Amino acid sequence: MNYEPVIGLEVHAQLLTETKIFCACSTRFGSRPNENTCPVCLGLPGVLPVLNKKVVEYAIRAGLATHCAITRKSVFARKNYFYPDLPKGYQISQYELPICQKGWIEIEVGTQKKRIGITRIHLEEDAGKSLHEHPKTRQHGASWVDLNRAGVALIETVSEPDIRSAEETVAYLKKFRAILVSLGICDGNMEEGSLRCDVNISLRPVGTEKFGTRAELKNMNSFKHIEKALAYEINRQASLLDAGKTITQETRLWNDDLGVTESMRSKEEAFDYRYFPDPDLLPLVVSDTWITEIEKSLPELPDAMRDRLIRDYQLTPYDAAILTGSRDLSRFFEQSVQLYPEAKKVANWIINEFLRLIEGDESRIAGTKITPQHLAKTLQLVDAGTISGSVAKTVLQKIFESGGGPEAVIAREGLAQVSDTGALEAAIAEIIAANPDQVAKYKGGNEKLIGFFVGLVMKKTQGRGNPGLINKLLKDKLG
Ligand SMILES: [Zn+2]
Repeated sequence: MNYEPVIGLEVHAQLLTETKIFCACSTRFGSRPNENTCPVCLGLPGVLPVLNKKVVEYAIRAGLATHCAITRKSVFARKNYFYPDLPKGYQISQYELPICQKGWIEIEVGTQKKRIGITRIHLEEDAGKSLHEHPKTRQHGASWVDLNRAGVALIETVSEPDIRSAEETVAYLKKFRAILVSLGICDGNMEEGSLRCDVNISLRPVGTEKFGTRAELKNMNSFKHIEKALAYEINRQASLLDAGKTITQETRLWNDDLGVTESMRSKEEAFDYRYFPDPDLLPLVVSDTWITEIEKSLPELPDAMRDRLIRDYQLTPYDAAILTGSRDLSRFFEQSVQLYPEAKKVANWIINEFLRLIEGDESRIAGTKITPQHLAKTLQLVDAGTISGSVAKTVLQKIFESGGGPEAVIAREGLAQVSDTGALEAAIAEIIAANPDQVAKYKGGNEKLIGFFVGLVMKKTQGRGNPGLINKLLKDKLG
């Protein structure tokens, strides 16, 4: 049978506030275990939570940027469950009345644009972290709990089940991350867990409306894992359905070593958590004036920036979408174009070479040794004939590895183009002497062979020969 995947995402984004959501403890990453804690986030009896206003502002920013309605009076709720890293025995979250509702994000897949609905964005506190000894190296027979993360502010964004493929899933997540990062409310770092994603997936026969039973893939922390896990899960569910079996509603984890998803536990339903309004917190009321103020302060968002790059620099929608994948990348592009105004060429070099060097990881842009000045200068040196296009790639590679400006790298590595007629003629003479058959064929009328000779000369000069000059000298010599 032909099945259609139905996918929805729950994304937890850690907000970039300096202090936690209900106490004044620092959110600094990398502190000593339990250093950033106080009676409130330790869940000691008799303390009261006090809401951090910045957290609310950030959630409203996220809501406005994703076309959500902002709830004027939202309510905090207790989500009850027991776990060692949750000292209160409940997590403060929002349930019936979340702060943002009913929005959408536009994604591009190929040349197609599509809107993915957003059901809700709600505020909540993070839990702590349990650290377990590796079974093989157990020394103390213990697990530890670090509560530095307990009480750090999160927004959870739940999408509608509008996503239909792994490609769309990744496009949605990338666009959402770009929006959060451009708003300055989340660093978007998936490896460090600032952005965590649960993927719900079910299958239904193509052409039918009714949703199938879903599995939840928990804690997906890289785009590659999401693609692989979805491919696996689509296959697994299709085989079960084809065999006439039923899908179990459950939470599964991606095991990257084995390349499979594994059952973790049966999926809880909302009623398992016995949600109820938190009696320690008043309803959260936000005024129209404040919302308008926040709206006015929003920066240029990825979609608007993409449209502007298409308009101002005549870029293709495809190139513009890639270049607006992060604020660092679009800034790199715009700064480079200021210095070297051929936008299409700059876009190609950034997309094909620069992104390859940083392995497509835009969070590495801030720390890379290549600057827009370096890229612009390198392209100018190609235009001036100092280096060829292929040597320019080497130059960027060397700058990336060990720094230095392009001219210094060219001098240090001896990469300047050889335009010395004498040196090139010597190389040509050797090549002609070593290839009498090809020379005869060329002279017999097979002029396409000129490319073969040019290639050999380039090889002999390690790509540094001036191609135009080589061509001319070869034609003279071969008659
Ligand atoms: Zn605290």
